[in-house]
Amino acid sequence: EYKEIATPSRTKEILKQHGFSFKKSLGQNFLTEPNILRKIVETAGIDTHTNVVEVGPGIGALTEQLAKNAAQVLAFEIDDRLIPVLEDTMSPYQNVTVVHNDVLKADLVGTTNEVFEQELPIKVVANLPYYITTPIMMHFLESDLEVEEMIVMMQKEVADRISAKPGTKAYGSLSIAVQYFMEASISFIVPKTVFIPQPNVDSAIIKLTKREQPAVAVTNEKEFFKLTKASFQLRRKTLWNNLIHFYGKDEETKAWLTESLTEAEIDPSRRGETLSLEEFGRLSNTLEKNR
Ligand code: SAM
Repeated sequence: EYKEIATPSRTKEILKQHGFSFKKSLGQNFLTEPNILRKIVETAGIDTHTNVVEVGPGIGALTEQLAKNAAQVLAFEIDDRLIPVLEDTMSPYQNVTVVHNDVLKADLVGTTNEVFEQELPIKVVANLPYYITTPIMMHFLESDLEVEEMIVMMQKEVADRISAKPGTKAYGSLSIAVQYFMEASISFIVPKTVFIPQPNVDSAIIKLTKREQPAVAVTNEKEFFKLTKASFQLRRKTLWNNLIHFYGKDEETKAWLTESLTEAEIDPSRRGETLSLEEFGRLSNTLEKNR
């Protein structure tokens, strides 16, 4: 009788058979609840016309469910001890390719071109290692890889920040960095009890859908992201205080800032967390024009 990898009994069996011990430093918390995995695959809408990139397959709990539904699965795993385990657990699935590499160092475009045989929409589906959630998200967003959707699990607190709306406590430069490229929403919450070992916090599945165009039209993307970061540096201070803290307190700089804020119709006494993406875009474009 065949048992899915994610069942607690099979997971324990695999770990024992390979003498595997968890490395906390690699964010290793394995999912042991097949129903949640099925729900992830369902939420992601994975079918035979989809290629999937997975980050951190572990012993293959999620990889197995993806393999059953997708055209092909490409999974990046950093831990060399897991490579022989995956060779074993993934042997029934011909459409899985495991690459032993740090995903942050991986050439995403090159590797996917090499591995995927058909040109199909690409989705990223993963239970992310929590210590590098944000760098991994940014690595995908900033790469040239065409990703249609990302359906990823992360700490609930980070998922809240990514999907936050202006004026809320969780809203910040991370919300803007992600929402500029993608539409973000939380699909469901996953309790910490379904992992081994158990993490300290609950998790959330977040769904990010690529926008046809960035959320706002900006003339200089790099300066736009600098501005949004700068506006949240001093959390309890006004936008004005943050701007002079970052750009400079000399008269020339202050005149440039004042002129641009007036022209963009943004009150400098507001707090950064109240500005929408559209307002940040307008301010950034005006600053660039008046530079
Ligand atoms: N997918 C499995 C599951 O759901 O049970 C394991 C998820 S576990 C939270 C994160 C996985 O990411 C671990 O297997 C870990 O070794 C791997 N990992 C950590 N850092 C990585 C990196 N920089 N690149 C690729 N994989 C990484």
